[in-house]
Amino acid sequence: MQNSDITIIGGGVMGLLTAREFLHAGASVTLLEKNKCGHESSWAGGGILLPLYPWRQAPAISDLVIESLKTYPTLAAQLQADTGIDPEWTQSGLLITHNSPEETILAHQWGEKHHIRIQKPEDDCFSGLNVDPQAPILLPDIAQIRNPRLLEALKHDVLAKGLHLIEHCEITHFTLEQQKLHDIHTNHGRFPLHQVVLTAGAWTRSIFQQYLIGVVDAPDIFPAKGQMLVFDAPANTLNNIVLHGDHYLIPRRDGKILAGSTVEYHVFHKEVTVEAHEEIYNFATNLLPSLKDAPMIKHWAGLRPATEDGVPYIGFHPEITNLSINAGHFRNGLTMAPASAQLLADIVLNRPTVIDPQAYQFFKHLPKNAL
Ligand SMILES: Cc1cc2nc3c(=O)[nH]c(=O)nc-3n(C[C@H](O)[C@H](O)[C@H](O)COP(=O)(O)OP(=O)(O)OC[C@H]3O[C@@H](n4cnc5c(N)ncnc54)[C@H](O)[C@@H]3O)c2cc1C
Repeated sequence: MQNSDITIIGGGVMGLLTAREFLHAGASVTLLEKNKCGHESSWAGGGILLPLYPWRQAPAISDLVIESLKTYPTLAAQLQADTGIDPEWTQSGLLITHNSPEETILAHQWGEKHHIRIQKPEDDCFSGLNVDPQAPILLPDIAQIRNPRLLEALKHDVLAKGLHLIEHCEITHFTLEQQKLHDIHTNHGRFPLHQVVLTAGAWTRSIFQQYLIGVVDAPDIFPAKGQMLVFDAPANTLNNIVLHGDHYLIPRRDGKILAGSTVEYHVFHKEVTVEAHEEIYNFATNLLPSLKDAPMIKHWAGLRPATEDGVPYIGFHPEITNLSINAGHFRNGLTMAPASAQLLADIVLNRPTVIDPQAYQFFKHLPKNAL
């Protein structure tokens, strides 16, 4: 019966990075994962380290994004040095092909505020692309991460740092007394609880619905399924990440090109569809015609943990005193993960926070008429 300071439920990017923060602070940490770590949304994502049009997002998203972007190069280098797995943090630059005059103004204002360079792209940015750009912009410093490798490296790293990891762990029930979670019962036995952190992504609300039903308020996190394709193209087929309307192409270092994605709200299964295949395949091969000659090697789906405005829950649950949540990062969880994990750990350990935690608190997400 493991008796850890911190018990984390859910082993995606949020759970693994949160565990890493607590381990660095000297806490003992158990992570319970219902399947295998890093095989859900965090694996399925594209790994662009920026929201698609960040100036359209809530300022609370930009705060986490900007803080995380500062961390990523060092995090990736440390993980590579310590685990031998390269998460391929790569400054590919982000090309946005079409912008209205209003969008262009907003983009430049946002870039100036957050010290993110925004430029007029050179002609070679469009090499191979079949596009008639309108007021295109290039964000040359924007990077991507190869998320499956990031997750693999994170898992190795936290295990080496002493994480007690239990995969294939099914919760059966909690014991809750006087607004405090005392024990969690699972198919691997009972664990006494001190601090509990929920990082169960799109399943976070289901944990409340299944095990804490009628007891307390559940966070309003719901699934938004996303489907993607990957093509096996020769290296250097594409220079930059390209955002064209609502769709994008992401060139990996080895030539693979990811194309995405759909956003299917409230769909709670991961079956891929013919319609999505057609939509993404047509988009990709129209924008980059040479992809017609590249084998399309995989089509997959993942479940993003969506909230109404994309702002995640980071902080304590208002009714259960030893329960906190780090979930609901919707389309930008890979981007926001380092700063989110740090913020959650700072809150739980009562340390000063780099970012003001107010915007991520539970009550901030309640409908206005519920307040
Ligand atoms: C198609 C697609 C493209 C995306 N592209 C990007 C992008 O380019 N950039 C970006 O920043 N973000 C992107 N995202 C979003 C990003 O992937 C997510 O926001 C992020 O991965 C969420 O991480 P998470 O750890 O909260 O959730 P997850 O990775 O889903 O992890 C949750 C974990 O909790 C576990 N779990 C669930 N229930 C239980 C339980 N009862 N007990 C124990 N464990 C449980 C699950 O098995 C899972 O391992 C994309 C997502 C998709 C689907």
